[in-house]
Amino acid sequence: MLSKSWLASVALSLSFVAAAQTPIPVTTSFSILADLVHVVGGDRVAVTPLVGPDEDAHVFEPKPADAKAILQSKLVVTNGLGFEPWMGKLVKSAGYKGASVIASTGVVPRKMDEDGHTITDPHAWQNPANVIFYVNNISKALSQLDPAGAATYQANSAAYVAELQTLDAWAKTQFTSVPVDKRKVITSHDAFGYFAAHYQLKFLAPQGMSTEGEASAKEVASLVRQIKREKIKAVFLENMSNPKLLEQLSKEAGVTPGATLYADALSAPGQPGATYLQMARHNVTALVTGLQQN
Ligand SMILES: [Zn+2]
Repeated sequence: MLSKSWLASVALSLSFVAAAQTPIPVTTSFSILADLVHVVGGDRVAVTPLVGPDEDAHVFEPKPADAKAILQSKLVVTNGLGFEPWMGKLVKSAGYKGASVIASTGVVPRKMDEDGHTITDPHAWQNPANVIFYVNNISKALSQLDPAGAATYQANSAAYVAELQTLDAWAKTQFTSVPVDKRKVITSHDAFGYFAAHYQLKFLAPQGMSTEGEASAKEVASLVRQIKREKIKAVFLENMSNPKLLEQLSKEAGVTPGATLYADALSAPGQPGATYLQMARHNVTALVTGLQQN
């Protein structure tokens, strides 16, 4: 028979092994997903985003170091919905055979008409209700990879979902101070479709679903006329987009761009959008202030 002290020492060494375990290397396509993986995984994961804070995933060009990061990871997390057209090729060229998860799985995709084509809007994270899907998908993927951490991932996700619900309820209250017909915003590209639908706002942008597209002179002129006609004052730059086009447009329309919105990337640490919750609160507060001037 095994002695009690022997069992105790085995249990002790097992718990020591668990605690000293090297964090699971996870690669995400962009910064917002990295924050969500960190929230769910805590110390059990070491997460690296390919497209970092204040960087634009639409025009990202992978480097050899990115293939290396993917190859060294145990889980690759993408947004999906066509946000990372470069990812498939990158994973293939890296020779990565590990696990991967599409964080937006389960979200109802928003379709949109662009230049006569129906396209899917990838910016689903801008609605906090959608981020609940993201967090649960990440939790499931991590649990499969690391069953010993499943309870931790589940607890972390549940706590975060509660925070997302609080954020959403708060955001709804914030917007009630602005009449629906005044909720018009100008931004650089169509990044806020899910947000707009959820909070009953109207976003107008010279660039379409991707920052890659060129805005035509005709479209810019028509937007300038609309800004003047509807007396829209709420004009916002985006943290990861080139500000030139919007600055030019604002000048022509006689308006001044207000605060910066966090669209497709978090801010650098220490800035107001360093986490998803921070960026969402910053955006709502900035938008309400801007909309009140309309
Ligand atoms: Zn975008």
